[in-house]
Amino acid sequence: MKTAIYPGSFDPVTKGHLDILKTASEIFDKVIIAVAKNSGKQGFLPVDVRTDLIRASVKGLENVEVDSFEGLTINYARKKNAQVLIRGLRAVSDFEYEMQLSQANSSLACEIKTVFLTTKPEYNFISSSTIKEIYLNNGDISKFVPKPVFDYLQNNKK
Ligand code: ADP
Repeated sequence: MKTAIYPGSFDPVTKGHLDILKTASEIFDKVIIAVAKNSGKQGFLPVDVRTDLIRASVKGLENVEVDSFEGLTINYARKKNAQVLIRGLRAVSDFEYEMQLSQANSSLACEIKTVFLTTKPEYNFISSSTIKEIYLNNGDISKFVPKPVFDYLQNNKK
């Protein structure tokens, strides 16, 4: 049984994240998408709202679980008996950071491997920060986020 963790901020979850998640769910027996709590950073949406919005957006993906965690990702992965961490790559600019992160993780926990996935080209440029910027300036984000996120942000206008 191969279990993968897809960790991230997901603030908010986007169609890019969901594309990565769907691919991962086709490859692994179980995928846990897990919101990392950052005690030093408040974020745009509270962590429980982020997990609720992910949960509402992944209905239909049978082998996907939604969770949140605090502390080191490798400790969380060990607790969940996961062998794999999923990370997404967009542009070359993601590469350096993601490479460092995966090497740091593998030197702390050599049994846990990082697997990088890419999205369909139409989702490639989408990032949570771009979406926040468009939303806060009253632009249309409906193409970039799943419906539950769109509806939540419409109803809780910041
Ligand atoms: P973090 O704060 O950990 O970078 P994010 O929520 O921004 O969390 O992203 C989680 C993961 O998803 C990261 O590996 C990021 O590179 C990846 N990701 C985000 N958006 C996309 C996208 N549009 N295409 C591919 N990967 C993506």
